[in-house]
Amino acid sequence: MAVASGTCPSCGAPIEFGVGSSIAKVCEYCQATVCRSDRGLENLGKVAEIANVPSLIAVGDSGTLSGRAFTVMGRVQLDHGAGPWDEYYVTFDHGATWGWIAYAEGQWIVTSLAPGHAVPAYGSLAPEQDITLGELGSFRVSEVRQATIVSAEGELPAAVPPGAVRYYADCFGINNAYATLDYGDMEGGGYEVFAGSVIAETELQVTQAGPRSTERIKTKHIQCPNCGGEVPKLNGDRATRLGCPYCGAVSDITLQQVVAQQEKLMTTPDIPIGATGSFDGVNYICIAYMRRGSDYDGDHFSWEEYLLFSAGIGYRWLVKDEKSWVWSLPVNLAEVDMQGLPQHAGWSGKKYPIRNRSDATIEYVLGELYWKAAIGDRSQVLDFQKGVETLSREAGGGEVRWSYSANVPWAVVAEGFQLDVDGPGGEFIQAAGTGWNEGEDGELVSQVVVLIIILVLLLVCCNSCGGCGYRSSGVYFGGGYYGGK
Ligand SMILES: [Zn+2]
Ligand SMILES: [Zn+2]
Repeated sequence: MAVASGTCPSCGAPIEFGVGSSIAKVCEYCQATVCRSDRGLENLGKVAEIANVPSLIAVGDSGTLSGRAFTVMGRVQLDHGAGPWDEYYVTFDHGATWGWIAYAEGQWIVTSLAPGHAVPAYGSLAPEQDITLGELGSFRVSEVRQATIVSAEGELPAAVPPGAVRYYADCFGINNAYATLDYGDMEGGGYEVFAGSVIAETELQVTQAGPRSTERIKTKHIQCPNCGGEVPKLNGDRATRLGCPYCGAVSDITLQQVVAQQEKLMTTPDIPIGATGSFDGVNYICIAYMRRGSDYDGDHFSWEEYLLFSAGIGYRWLVKDEKSWVWSLPVNLAEVDMQGLPQHAGWSGKKYPIRNRSDATIEYVLGELYWKAAIGDRSQVLDFQKGVETLSREAGGGEVRWSYSANVPWAVVAEGFQLDVDGPGGEFIQAAGTGWNEGEDGELVSQVVVLIIILVLLLVCCNSCGGCGYRSSGVYFGGGYYGGK
């Protein structure tokens, strides 16, 4: 049932618009963007071939989002230089209203047009800036960027010419509120505000899959473009980057392009990728391993991060440094009290004094990652610490992310993942996870002795094998990394 129809000005094929809010449609025969106006149908130009971005939904799907009926009418593919991502144009309540949905970091972001709000000029915006959008309330800017619309599919609520650049800022509010300030191509000074919320993945159910125009073969593997190896898919169609366990290449899954080469991992991570575990009644799967490092006072430190996923709550991290295991969760930056920065940060009724500032660089990745990670990606980290709890701010690539972490005993990690409590994950880690220096004297001495023996053995090994490729400022062993602190 079409609200408008005609023929494609480019190829003559029939064009039908399903809902009144649709202004343009990508012709499914010739890929021209066809725009409807008073003058009839106009050809805005041909879009590039749509990239097969891993996705949980597709154009034509319908279902419910937080109990509300939706239908996916179209999608645009945007790119700010690291590979494309999708945003979906959906109608709600059987065409009564419309909005955009996008999947990011394990959650759905749902917005709809919110007219009548003044916004700051694009050039004056910066991450963590507070803005007010009238009755929608206060928001905090998390990201200020520009992206190119590289392709599109299906119906669209605006006449978007292929290749158009879009300037935007993403903002979070309290209680999962979310807003995008869309400055379009910056010509003419126009803008639009889209407001909505962040919604758990489990709130979205596809009840009817549409006729999918991009061939989407459901596979149980991701093929590594470097070695051709088939890596078992652990995270459905959510991951965007892969660290191949066979050859070590880091690839963009959508583009099927290698973005970095790294050596094969020399040891098995303490928590195997693919391991499933339960914490506080939530089931997680370990989908990736990452090693990050930092230089401090002339020394190099590295630590290990394990990425866990649960559809109900999204992503969590388990981090192992030379002292402890730490459980880490994302914090909505809108909920952080920033008045005391840079000396203090507040969250959830607590004040955290600054502990250190550092740069963190991605040194190694293995498994499936939900963001466009690359080896060498660097972020500036501020750690605010109170006891064994840490509030961290990471800034890099035009974005700011906050997280909260607290120590977790290895015994709890081991039990959750059904790993050997005497296994390598617990080596050199205090049982209670309260820190290296607080241990019993005897225990500490025995650990130091073991460490010295291992260091000697490794030095002998490295001298004889000609170098394992790791920096001399630290030694990698048994799944743990001990920096020269
Ligand atoms: Zn056509
Ligand atoms: Zn490979």
